[in-house]
Amino acid sequence: MPAKTERISVYQPEQEGREFPQVPVFATAAEERDHRKRRLVAACRAFAAHGLDYGFAGHLTVRDPEFPALYWTNPMAVHFADVKLSNLLLADHDGRVREGRHALNRAGFVLHSAVHEAHPDIVAMCHAHTVYGVAWAAMGRLLDPITQDACCFFEDHVVIADEGGAVTVERDAGKKVAAAFTGVKAAIHRNHGLMTASRHSIESAAFWFIALERCCRQQLMIEATGRPPVLVPPERARYSREHVGSDYISWLHFQPIYDRLVRTDADMFD
Ligand SMILES: [Zn+2]
Repeated sequence: MPAKTERISVYQPEQEGREFPQVPVFATAAEERDHRKRRLVAACRAFAAHGLDYGFAGHLTVRDPEFPALYWTNPMAVHFADVKLSNLLLADHDGRVREGRHALNRAGFVLHSAVHEAHPDIVAMCHAHTVYGVAWAAMGRLLDPITQDACCFFEDHVVIADEGGAVTVERDAGKKVAAAFTGVKAAIHRNHGLMTASRHSIESAAFWFIALERCCRQQLMIEATGRPPVLVPPERARYSREHVGSDYISWLHFQPIYDRLVRTDADMFD
């Protein structure tokens, strides 16, 4: 597969000839579709490995490269650890399943299709009901820049209060959430949970989700001490976000997770 270096980052100095993950480029839409589907499966397996499951809750989506109004997603009521190439669904913005034998998660479709429809630049999106993300979402507050990692989300996430407490199955509710989810990589949906998006890849959206859940956990731990943390000053937080908060860096973070899953989850691509 031909490859190119998408962007030089602080992690990617001039080291010509050394082994380093490369963002793939594709000769055909079919090749890219197959790649996106495989990485979507891996993202679901990564969610399982990180304990981000809660019954049938949680949905991950990635646009089809050829038909951007269609998106691939995990099937309803199948554990993240059991998602595989052969049980993915292809759905449209109206919630119709175009490919796949499983049912679609109605709440997932309402949320994800609204976001994908309102934001054509968003390639992939993740949402799940996680322990720390949901707990933090009850606070109705933005995360503070308490660490370098948290700086990735500095001035790049929102709190959405609309429609948080009740399950979102009506399309108007999805549209309100989508409108609030503008120009950022992540959202804390009050009394509901976390959402992340990527303009780059499903790997990137999935890693942002893992990172955001971790940030929520860390801020809850710090606040539980009752002592105020030292915050990263805004200009330093912005600097960190510019350097380690890009979708490319998030994609790069996902590569070792993917490589590990290829070794541990032999049935991913069945
Ligand atoms: Zn939900």
